[in-house]
Amino acid sequence: MGNVENPVAATPAEVQLVREMTDGFQLVIDALKLNGIDTIFGLPGIPITDLTRKAQAAGMRVISFRHEQNAGNAAAIAGFLTQKPGICLTVSAPGFLNGLTALANATTNCFPVILISGSSEREIVDLQQGDYEEMDQLAIAKPLAKAAFRVLEAGDIGVGIARAIRAAVSGRPGGVYLDLPAKLFAQTLDAEAGRRSLIKVVDPAPRQIPAKDAVQRALDLLKGAKRPLIILGKGAAYAQADADIRALIERSGIPYLPMSMAKGLLPDTHEQCASAARSFVLPEADVVMLIGARLNWLLSHGKGKTWGGKGHKDWGGQKFIQVDISPLEADSNVRIDAPVVGDIGSCVSALLAGIGASWPKPPAEWLAAVAERKKQNIAKMAETLAKNPAPMNFHSALNVVRDIVKANPDAILVNEGANALDFTRSIVDMYQPRKRLDVGTWGVMGIGMGFAVAAAVVSGKPVIAVEGDSAFGFSGMEVETLCRYNLPVCVVVFNNNGVYRGTDVNPAGGPDVAPTVFVKGARYDKLIEAFGGVGVHATTPAELRKAMEEAIRSRKPTLINAVIDETAGTESGRITSLNPSAKKK
Ligand code: ADP
Repeated sequence: MGNVENPVAATPAEVQLVREMTDGFQLVIDALKLNGIDTIFGLPGIPITDLTRKAQAAGMRVISFRHEQNAGNAAAIAGFLTQKPGICLTVSAPGFLNGLTALANATTNCFPVILISGSSEREIVDLQQGDYEEMDQLAIAKPLAKAAFRVLEAGDIGVGIARAIRAAVSGRPGGVYLDLPAKLFAQTLDAEAGRRSLIKVVDPAPRQIPAKDAVQRALDLLKGAKRPLIILGKGAAYAQADADIRALIERSGIPYLPMSMAKGLLPDTHEQCASAARSFVLPEADVVMLIGARLNWLLSHGKGKTWGGKGHKDWGGQKFIQVDISPLEADSNVRIDAPVVGDIGSCVSALLAGIGASWPKPPAEWLAAVAERKKQNIAKMAETLAKNPAPMNFHSALNVVRDIVKANPDAILVNEGANALDFTRSIVDMYQPRKRLDVGTWGVMGIGMGFAVAAAVVSGKPVIAVEGDSAFGFSGMEVETLCRYNLPVCVVVFNNNGVYRGTDVNPAGGPDVAPTVFVKGARYDKLIEAFGGVGVHATTPAELRKAMEEAIRSRKPTLINAVIDETAGTESGRITSLNPSAKKK
């Protein structure tokens, strides 16, 4: 110890040695934990392997996947369920790209998620000198994300993570990309300076109170309606304003339609639920209030024959109220007569305040007409569900799933496929909010196992994943993840031997099977057995019921190969109108 002027004083290097130091790895972990983020979904590799180890050592839950797309989907749906941004951690270039589909999907669906990817060194990437996994990831992520940031110095990690959190959850939620070059992780910093550089985000998703006149305009329109309808979207489910939304529906007495992921906000068996009369209420309604739902393709853009218009672009004459946090959403497809801009919690409570005891119930003829149409359609469906054909079809299998969900209303239902999606959505009633997670705004395939893992991890509740055999293939390897973390997930693969159906033949008569056909009689149940899970081959509703009941009871990871008639199912399910080949047939 010592220097020239003062032989007993410490040299700067020695001071450095005794001072407590921190580094980039630690600061990322500290910044996330400081903001209440306790789980990372990801896939380790260069340069973030140590980040996953250190995060786990620091008490965070680190859930590793077999493919980044599934980790990204898991993080996104965790964000939807918790209102905290889900974190997906990936390696550079290919890992980053694999995560990008989930990031784009999250942005499209308004799910808050942060994709954190390690990246190569800027000096080499920017000169295109050919680094390991060289790629300008920030530039690529930008158009697909709500926001994208890069941190170059360890002292900026706190700001980077704070900005990413705010961008993900404030206003309309979405996907955020955070680029962390490899060099950053090893950078050291005085621990105290590091601590001071972190930011605990205050009020990350500030309430946005709607303007009084906007609320009044909406109430006036609603009050004067002869055939009012409310449509609840997944924005309403995300907002966690469940009690007020229910009160708004019940006090107003207005029939409502839940969009797919809003099912269960009120039980689907609620007397005001108009799901079973959807094709009747859309063209007939005169005033429609959208709460956290966009007039996109899923609602035929608010026009055309679905809405009673004459041609496919013709407006049906409805007046629309739109409650949404994004002021840009109004008029995106048809005129919005009363936009109410604000967060759904604040908007619904303001609307509720205007719906007092003297609020007139909707005209009795309207309610009676909706009830009558519902009764007819429910009776028709009951008849179909009562049949027991051999082999099983979608209806007889879903009759079982419907009973199981009814008996376990707190279970989360994940659902993807074409026919497996459409039939499940219309047959299986949901009873609680945020229990149905599905293909969302894009109708994307591949969300299944990622969503199932995250739903089980963040809720601790049993998860049932109803999967088309094609859809399951996109994330099927994650059954190992289900087993590794011993998650209470029951996967039901509706196996009809192919995409849409298993009956196509090769028109040229060559050795290859038709592009839509899979290996016939495949045993998906064997896949999970390879990892110690429970596999069941079910060919009848009774076998399916027994296996599902046992899966829920035991909470063991289970995969049921439910054999469905290979001739059941239509091309593209219910969206045949979008498929040019199906249209021709
Ligand atoms: P669905 O597919 O169920 O119809 P969409 O994803 O089309 O639902 O619409 C969700 C809408 O909800 C988006 O327009 C989004 O801006 C809005 N939204 C999301 N979260 C909130 C919130 N907390 N408050 C208000 N609006 C929200």
